[in-house]
Amino acid sequence: MSAENPQGEYITFSEGEYQIPDRPLIGALPGDGIGPDIWSATKMVLEAAVAKAYAGKRKICWQPLTAGEAAFKESGSYLPEATLAAIEKLKIAIKGPLATPIGGGIRSLNVALRHHFDLYACIRPVRYYEGVPNPMKRPGDLDVVIFRENTEDVYAGLEWAAGSEEAEALGDYLRDKLKAKVRPGSALGIKPMSPEGSKRLIRAAIQYAIDNDRKMVTMVHKGNIMKFTEGAFRQWGYEMAKAEFADKIITEEELVTKYEGEWPPGKIILNDRIADAMFQQLLLRPDEYDVLATPNLNGDYLSDACAAQVGGLGIAPGANVGDGIAIFEATHGTAPKYAGLDKVNPGSLILSGKMMLDFMGWRKAGALVEKALQATILGRRVTYDLARQMNDGEEVRCSTFGELIVAAM
Ligand code: NAD
Repeated sequence: MSAENPQGEYITFSEGEYQIPDRPLIGALPGDGIGPDIWSATKMVLEAAVAKAYAGKRKICWQPLTAGEAAFKESGSYLPEATLAAIEKLKIAIKGPLATPIGGGIRSLNVALRHHFDLYACIRPVRYYEGVPNPMKRPGDLDVVIFRENTEDVYAGLEWAAGSEEAEALGDYLRDKLKAKVRPGSALGIKPMSPEGSKRLIRAAIQYAIDNDRKMVTMVHKGNIMKFTEGAFRQWGYEMAKAEFADKIITEEELVTKYEGEWPPGKIILNDRIADAMFQQLLLRPDEYDVLATPNLNGDYLSDACAAQVGGLGIAPGANVGDGIAIFEATHGTAPKYAGLDKVNPGSLILSGKMMLDFMGWRKAGALVEKALQATILGRRVTYDLARQMNDGEEVRCSTFGELIVAAM
């Protein structure tokens, strides 16, 4: 770890709040493949926005960190202890994509990071930027923020191959003790969902809605079929909201029974939808939805479907957040064939940086980033992925796209 800017101060976290100094130290992990290209464009844009918004009073002091292939070359480890310790101390970091090492028993470095820091909420805002090619008639109607549970559900990594000793032992137990009809020789997976894991995710979504003046939180589940896991997710959400947010939240049912359908000012509505119906709703009535809280698998599918709906899969931002640690990241991978070509779209990491600025309370700088990115897309000088879908788009390099965004501020 090399200190890029030694005058920075550490961000602290106490009583559920981050304290952000004017010169915060923030972890920067460029990542693998196209990571260094998109990171240099992102760094340039974020620094320009902060300088412009706060006239030099505030400045991010980047703390360069390594993970992935670069770290492996340096230290023989894809996720060095020094990097993990630094993130723990810094509290906030931004990262490019990391390649999943082939072989060596590592499932994914991203999953490892989420598990290590218990980053239980994957947050993906999805909104339309005018001029982005997309398949919808009114793409601007969709403006949602998805909170996807990141640690449980069928992604917990509890699965065993067909014919393995573990699958056979578990199969025997299910058949003998629980009289479950499981065919011998089946592959088996477990879907753990806990009250704590579900409630903290839904709590984070509700708190986000309160802090960001959003109107509705929708829990998306498949509780009609998976009653004790996804059905319970929904139930735990309503119980927690009643116990902890009674002054802020009303349920959709209460809107009808207590308020005769008149939305009481200042209240956020908590409702729920079955996942398959939600895919239809988001296509047919996107403007009726706002913040979504979902178990892991539903959230994974929904975030990509929503991003595609606004044409923004290549510029979709994201963050993985726990209690006291937040890592902002590009949602795409390392696109190895474009590595080092200064060609790809840095938009996903730039907008993740905008999310980070908002998260820090530096909203003026965040708004500048978003406005300038929007103006640049409308200027139709964009990276290859957008240019090739626009009738009159001009292709520019990744670094040029970053420079155009800075110039548009
Ligand atoms: P990928 O997202 O890297 O690339 C798929 C294709 O999408 C690319 O070939 C390219 O055409 C396009 N693309 C991706 N990012 C782009 C950008 N910024 N601008 C323009 N076009 C872009 O997916 P993959 O090929 O499945 O995965 C490659 C590696 O990335 C794997 O090792 C995988 O594990 C890793 N990965 C990491 C993350 C992460 O770090 N969060 C996420 C997904 C995949």
